[in-house]
Amino acid sequence: MALTYCVLGSGSSGNCLWIRGGGVQILVDCGLSARQICKRLEAVGGRIDEVQAVVVTHGHCDHVLGASVLSRRHGLEVYASGGARRFLATDIPVERLRALPYPGDLAIGGLRVTSVATPHDSPESVALVVDDGDARLGIVTDLGVVREAIVSTLAGVDGLVLEMNHDEQMLADGPYPARLKRRIRGNYGHLSNQQGGELLRRLAHPGLQRVTLAHISEHNNTPELAREVAEGVLAQAPGRAALSIGEHHRPGEPVVLRGRGRKQLALPFA
Ligand SMILES: [Zn+2]
Ligand SMILES: [Zn+2]
Repeated sequence: MALTYCVLGSGSSGNCLWIRGGGVQILVDCGLSARQICKRLEAVGGRIDEVQAVVVTHGHCDHVLGASVLSRRHGLEVYASGGARRFLATDIPVERLRALPYPGDLAIGGLRVTSVATPHDSPESVALVVDDGDARLGIVTDLGVVREAIVSTLAGVDGLVLEMNHDEQMLADGPYPARLKRRIRGNYGHLSNQQGGELLRRLAHPGLQRVTLAHISEHNNTPELAREVAEGVLAQAPGRAALSIGEHHRPGEPVVLRGRGRKQLALPFA
């Protein structure tokens, strides 16, 4: 089973990414209702009872909303950093709560999940790399600025889910109150198209197959503006990565990452 990912929803109305590989299926974030997650999963050929776990990147509601029902009703394990666990519903069965190292890595079946700290206004928030031993997917959303550890952890990924939250001008001219604008553009807020583009420039390499633009604001950005910035960066970069957009209200197409024939990794906790 090649490493495959599919955006079930992306943005402030709820984030959820479905990943298959290494003999398991996981979700990264579950910021939609469990019912909505099941519905969207089925729309792209998945089934919640085949999903083992959800890894949450941080405790904001648009990333953890479905955790309680997914764990209680559908038996998913919930991996969260110590900081994120404080924001999870208290009725998640303790035997299904798992610690996500901050930073560090862990094994879920044949997947290795590596976390790296992100600057965001939620304690112990992370970006992730999911690796099936043959291909690597980087997931980086909800951060105010890019730090070197994020670039080095995600270097060489085959697929990338990348935040392009806002267009700076649209945010400045838009309807949000001044305090919220400051929060979004601050060092613990969200990446603008320009900041996301700069991170993409640093992570682009000949082996990068697919970039999915994520957490695009419905009020302060458009998919077209984000795409324009990403296309401009990729046109100057080595390789031919394809682009797609993570949408708010419907799932995207599953993306299969070609393996590079690397050997199965030795998993430290397998
Ligand atoms: Zn978010
Ligand atoms: Zn957030």
